[in-house]
Amino acid sequence: MTEKGAIFSQNVKQIAFDDEHLKKMRARYDFFMCVAEDCADHYANIELEKSRAFNIRNKAFKYYDKYLVDFETNVIQNGGIVRWARDAEEAKYMIYDILNAEKSKNVVKTKSILSEEIGLMPFLEMKKVNIKETDTGDFICYQYNERPSDPNHSAAHKTKDEIAEIYSEKFGVSDNLNAKQLMTVTRKVLNDKYLNADTAITGADFFVADTGDIIISEDEGNVLKSMANANVNIVLVGIDKLIPSIDDISVLLPLSSLYEVTKIKAKSFYTILSKPGHDNSGNQKLYIVLVDNNRSTMLEKELQRRIMTCIECGGCHNVCPIFNTIGGHVYDNAFPGPVGAIQSIADGYENAAHLATLCASCHQCEQYCPMNIKISDLILRNRIEIVKENALLLGEKRFFNFMMKRVENRKDMDKTKDFLNRLEFKQLIKKTWGVHRELPVFAEKSFSEIWRSINDNEG
Ligand code: SF4
Repeated sequence: MTEKGAIFSQNVKQIAFDDEHLKKMRARYDFFMCVAEDCADHYANIELEKSRAFNIRNKAFKYYDKYLVDFETNVIQNGGIVRWARDAEEAKYMIYDILNAEKSKNVVKTKSILSEEIGLMPFLEMKKVNIKETDTGDFICYQYNERPSDPNHSAAHKTKDEIAEIYSEKFGVSDNLNAKQLMTVTRKVLNDKYLNADTAITGADFFVADTGDIIISEDEGNVLKSMANANVNIVLVGIDKLIPSIDDISVLLPLSSLYEVTKIKAKSFYTILSKPGHDNSGNQKLYIVLVDNNRSTMLEKELQRRIMTCIECGGCHNVCPIFNTIGGHVYDNAFPGPVGAIQSIADGYENAAHLATLCASCHQCEQYCPMNIKISDLILRNRIEIVKENALLLGEKRFFNFMMKRVENRKDMDKTKDFLNRLEFKQLIKKTWGVHRELPVFAEKSFSEIWRSINDNEG
């Protein structure tokens, strides 16, 4: 097992039997089920809309080389600047260089899963950049020095009381504030940052080939506030977020907001960023940093590339029984849950092995996916490739080889149950099975043994 895998299983063992944590995850799941209840009623024919959305994303992948060039050409014509980053290191240094070149002193940042993926915040903080996160959920997580636990609801693993406690410690306020008061404290802390910001770093939902536009959706208004005062806007976006035409957002944006808590199933704000703004000095700048970081490797995979059509609605991990047991922090990638587990194959078979086991094949996620992605099948595909490549999972491989030999022959199979019931075997398997679960006891006699003895007695 890789070091990553070993740390991962250690963390899983700790969290999976933490009753407090399970209670929070259960509440989260129940809440999501209420939100998701009548989503399909918002469409006359949701299946038709899902296939439209899939065709849009697939068309983008088919003509990627052309569309990427079209996008860059359009951005330049609009007065923006495009930078291309091959990997996380390049992207981080690229942003750092832009901040230096623009002499940025006060930087505000908005939510971006990609920035978590490349570790942007810790990197810029290490470089002594004065930067502040403005998304409320992420802001709360940073008070704990934690990364967001969920791509859509970053601080869903914290209770109101826990947040009140940390706010009291960090901002000297009372430790029994209610949710509304906690929001007021957050706004007060951040308002100063918005007013003094010279640079904003944002993520993006999509970028559009035929116009050079950037599409950003949000609920809090922090993206708009961040960009309003900043003279320099840096948009960090993965190359997979490309869509062919501005018309496509009429299909994709409603679907990506399908599980919003509001009745109208829409985000509060949608921004189309077309060109740098113009202040009196006319020196506003718009940089778009396009990041690959293994996305092209993923797009080369005939089957798994289907996951790149994901529009980050959050449906799959909200219903995943594995995610709802272990939570998002245990996953060692920025997009926890089934999506991240599939995408991890682009980081190499060894790095993906421990995540490929995180699927119970319940297929619940697929019922909620607005892009009709066969999520469980793709995780299974990862497993097949990992086993074929002999990349880890060796323990499982040996165990199943042993079992396969045993089940080939009826008599051997009958003997196997004695072995499985023996204490040495139980001790052996305890390591992977965990100390909290009891191994099932195999019946003393198999069906064929019972059948034989009935027939023998009758004969
Ligand atoms: S895979 Fe599907 S359900 Fe999961 S986040 Fe992406 S679009 Fe939503």
